[in-house]
Amino acid sequence: MSETVEPSVAELEAFREEARRWLDENTPPKPDFKLPDSFLEVSSEEQFEHLRAWQRSVYDAGYLGMTWPSEFGGGGRQQIYQSIVNEEMADRNRPFMLNIVGLMWAGPVILKFGTQEQKKRYLAPLLRADEIWCQGFSEPENGSDLANVQTTAVRDGGDYVINGTKIWTSLGTQAHHMILLARTDPNAGSKYRGLTFFLAPVDGPDVEKRPIRKMTGEYGFNETHFRNARVPASCVLGEEGQGWAIAMATLAFERYAEGGQAGGLDMVQLRVAELVEMARECRRDGRPAIEDPIVREELVRLSVEERAIDMNDIRRNLPRLCRERPDAIGLMRKLVTSEFRRRMSRFAVSLQGEAAKLYIGDPAAVEDGDWQRHYMNAYSVTIGGGTSQIQMNILGERVLGLDKG
Ligand SMILES: Cc1cc2nc3c(=O)[nH]c(=O)nc-3n(C[C@H](O)[C@H](O)[C@H](O)COP(=O)(O)OP(=O)(O)OC[C@H]3O[C@@H](n4cnc5c(N)ncnc54)[C@H](O)[C@@H]3O)c2cc1C
Repeated sequence: MSETVEPSVAELEAFREEARRWLDENTPPKPDFKLPDSFLEVSSEEQFEHLRAWQRSVYDAGYLGMTWPSEFGGGGRQQIYQSIVNEEMADRNRPFMLNIVGLMWAGPVILKFGTQEQKKRYLAPLLRADEIWCQGFSEPENGSDLANVQTTAVRDGGDYVINGTKIWTSLGTQAHHMILLARTDPNAGSKYRGLTFFLAPVDGPDVEKRPIRKMTGEYGFNETHFRNARVPASCVLGEEGQGWAIAMATLAFERYAEGGQAGGLDMVQLRVAELVEMARECRRDGRPAIEDPIVREELVRLSVEERAIDMNDIRRNLPRLCRERPDAIGLMRKLVTSEFRRRMSRFAVSLQGEAAKLYIGDPAAVEDGDWQRHYMNAYSVTIGGGTSQIQMNILGERVLGLDKG
């Protein structure tokens, strides 16, 4: 149960100070290997263990899952406290959390639809990154068309037997559990019916994982093949046949249309201020790029957009300012921030002139080729969780009230 008394401004300021101090004193030193840009690109054991240790220390200090009920490992506090911690982490560009699928969408959906036993079983280990979660929605032929799920789950005694292939499973290689959408009734009459949502174990021998390499050279997701994989019936979330409704609720958490996520950052923060610095260093026609009016204009445009995103984030937490459509800013956020990140990192690469083609590991690369990697990885967030086109459709229909067309 969350506290109900509104905290005073002085209390919140004292809390912010305490969180700042903790972050300043407890963030691990930069490792001597490269960390990925986000939880979507965790490729090596050392990256995984470093990020896992960070999530654990944040949770153990009480700064993660702050709004979740204390009986399930949460802090039982109001959202404002978690928001303060998130803001301070973002300002300091602290490492992101490893177990994002668990923290941001599996956990909230278990809280919403799970039994007491499921909440007790899964939530605390997820917060501490003792158990890693992945998401099995997409299939080789069904991404945007999620309801067309072909993976089957057939009841057999106390188990379900799963067969099929999921793809683009982020953190799949390391995961213990998967939120999995499977078809339990192929004759239900509509593709939206006959689907069931599982909290499926994926660390057994009947689940084969084949890593997929990204254009950055990194790994981070895989194909997941289920071959007669047995999943206990106790792993069904909600009721058999309720899968589509729970999948839609999951996407509302994933796309930030609904609150209740456990907190922490999900990727490296990129700020326009870094581009301004780079524009001072890089040269164009023999002069610092920042003296070029076209460069200046683009920097101003990006700064204004960045400010608007920041202001909308603040507005989203003020119910009185988004009463008419409480989910509109959240829904817009995914589209706007992912497209902004892509354009911003493209501009950063273009500033580098000839050096734009140099990548990580090349001694002549600007900032070790990090912006090239940011640029390529920026496409991930315009696709994962629903492509930009799908987000535009949703915004058009649900927020602007346009016809489906
Ligand atoms: C880095 C990364 C990580 C991911 N992690 C996961 C994960 O952990 N778990 C998981 O289940 N999935 C994951 N995905 C998969 C992701 O959800 C899908 O790629 C996405 O939903 C798009 O599906 P698709 O790739 O099949 O493309 P398609 O659905 O085939 O779409 C192809 C193109 O057609 C457009 N399009 C499709 N339908 C429409 C429409 N109705 N209107 C307008 N345009 C349309 C799309 O916008 C896109 O440009 C990940 C993807 C990426 C890139």
